[in-house]
Amino acid sequence: MRLDKFLANAGVGTRSEVKTIIRKGLVVLNGEVVTDNDMDVHPETDEVLVDDAPIAYQEFVYVILNKPKGYVSAKEDRDDPTVISLILGYEHRDLHIVGRLDKDTTGLLVITDDGKLTHKLTSPKHDVAKTYLLEVNAPIDEALVTAFTKGFALGESDKVLPSKLVILPTKNQALLTIHEGKFHQVKRMFAKFGYTVSELQRVAIGTLELGDLKVGEFRDLTKDEVTKLKSL
Ligand code: URA
Repeated sequence: MRLDKFLANAGVGTRSEVKTIIRKGLVVLNGEVVTDNDMDVHPETDEVLVDDAPIAYQEFVYVILNKPKGYVSAKEDRDDPTVISLILGYEHRDLHIVGRLDKDTTGLLVITDDGKLTHKLTSPKHDVAKTYLLEVNAPIDEALVTAFTKGFALGESDKVLPSKLVILPTKNQALLTIHEGKFHQVKRMFAKFGYTVSELQRVAIGTLELGDLKVGEFRDLTKDEVTKLKSL
């Protein structure tokens, strides 16, 4: 990897700030001052110092966010705050949102710059389970459990695959696990049976659970969590 890219990825500065730092002779690679931006760096084995401080290399960023209401699942938006604006400290990385949530939905979002994992978790081929805790406007009819287990048509040429609905003892609440990510899918599935979803929170993606992460907060995924997501 080029030295300037390595330093920009590590958060030392923007690509052009990093070039200036290199030109000033502040960067030491394996004990030698380097002034060449496109010097080749082997992140796993080389020692890089900037102004005498060692630079830790992180190939990819993986975070879990508990999305608040009112935030859009986008990098930029003219009208609303974005979920990416909540991920402080990683402004220098090109982060992607893995599987969007509606503006009024809360809960688990994975945000990463690992394109391969993004693809894996969102591609219909990989069939990753997503579980939602939801509340609707009326008591949920038991008949929906069977209908959801079988799968059904949402529109003329739009079918939903079998899903698992667990009606909770709490008022008008249920857990729903789906294996797709169609536009407004959960809301449309309930609308088909005459219900309106009033609260929607994603609580799990595959093996990864939201847990007790507070609304609006994020944390880095553990190595174990990343390994498990990659092997789904
Ligand atoms: N289904 C929906 O309807 N909305 C979401 O945000 C996620 C799933």
